Amino acid sequence: MSLPFLPFALPDIGDEEIAEVVDTLKSGWVTTGPKAQRFEAEFSAFLGGRVGDNSLHAIAVNSATAGLHLALEGLGIGPGDEVITTTHTFTATAEVARYLGADVRLVDIDPATLNLDPSAVEAAITPRTKALLPVHYGGLAADMPALLDIARRHGLKVVEDAAHALPTTCAGRLVGTLDSDATVFSFYANKTMTTGEGGMLVTRDAALAKRARVMRLHGMNRDAFDRYTAKVPSWYYEVVAPGFKYNLTDIAAALGLQQLKKVQAFQQARQRIAEAYDAGLAGLPLLTPPRPRSGDQHAWHLYPLRLAAGAPLDRDALIERLFAQGIGCSVHYIPLHRHPYWRERYQLRAEDFPHSDHAYRHLLSLPIYTRMQPADVQRVIEALRAALAPAGAA
Ligand SMILES: *Cc1c(COP(=O)(O)O)cnc(C)c1O
Repeated sequence: MSLPFLPFALPDIGDEEIAEVVDTLKSGWVTTGPKAQRFEAEFSAFLGGRVGDNSLHAIAVNSATAGLHLALEGLGIGPGDEVITTTHTFTATAEVARYLGADVRLVDIDPATLNLDPSAVEAAITPRTKALLPVHYGGLAADMPALLDIARRHGLKVVEDAAHALPTTCAGRLVGTLDSDATVFSFYANKTMTTGEGGMLVTRDAALAKRARVMRLHGMNRDAFDRYTAKVPSWYYEVVAPGFKYNLTDIAAALGLQQLKKVQAFQQARQRIAEAYDAGLAGLPLLTPPRPRSGDQHAWHLYPLRLAAGAPLDRDALIERLFAQGIGCSVHYIPLHRHPYWRERYQLRAEDFPHSDHAYRHLLSLPIYTRMQPADVQRVIEALRAALAPAGAA
């Protein structure tokens, strides 16, 4: 008797989200409007801005990719500039610099954390370097104190790709409230909370926030909801730049309002799964994911395992074997230096990224999401134990 397929990821949408979306659909206002505004205010408050405190600006957008693009654009990154990021990421982190005509310097990771290696960052800085883009891989904070120190010493901007990092803490502070120029969260379908597609750009820089609000909607200085709710006839607006179409709809924001209320409970559920995996996989020839520094919180967007020397099969065979038993896994990431575009554009060689490349060849991500039942977690553990235990010892 075979068990139903256990997918790699599933969103956790409850009756509250459904009711909020229905409310929006019935309200007559479906695109960016009151719910997107409320979502921005509540997101800022979640990060620790007080209600009515305007110092932590949250700008809702239709993807994290859009938010990263707006952040770099607003910081003035353009042709001739270089940004430094990790090769061990999704292409969105780096592609936004190319939208602006800037160049990307990919660097290797720290093999212990799989996050950007600060010493590799420092070695990659040139006179053209303008910004650092750390990624909090899997939901584990990058070494922000070291990276912010490098940025300060070299006069660089810092934009955090926090697509995995809600809610992550770094030295006791939530990612989103650190001393970088901007932080961008993703609400893509498989992220730690979802709006279907969506993202949030967070910054304390009032000028950047103002620019991003204009550029998110065609470079118009007033959006439709502003004009609709103004006290005087208000058809008038001005186009001040060739902006983008990056606004978040109220339908998506409705989902976000309710997901945000659950985001800490979601984290706790994923952390329990991570702890069950750590305990259940002990003694097997593999490396369980790195833990956060003591006192810090991991968002556990991913649970990335690495096969160790002595494993009786390789990563590809293990994924196939798990799949044959109805268990979905994934690989995060095929590093950017292995993709044709990045490899050819910058003549990259795997030998230049030994830690990321080694990790890639041994990595697999296990399912870790709130709708998994304890029996699902057990099933994954048992499948791994059966696949990896020394012959005869199972
Ligand atoms: C998902 C993801 C993105 C892009 O997020 P979207 O909301 O889909 O644009 C960027 N960076 C990383 C590391 C991601 O995992």
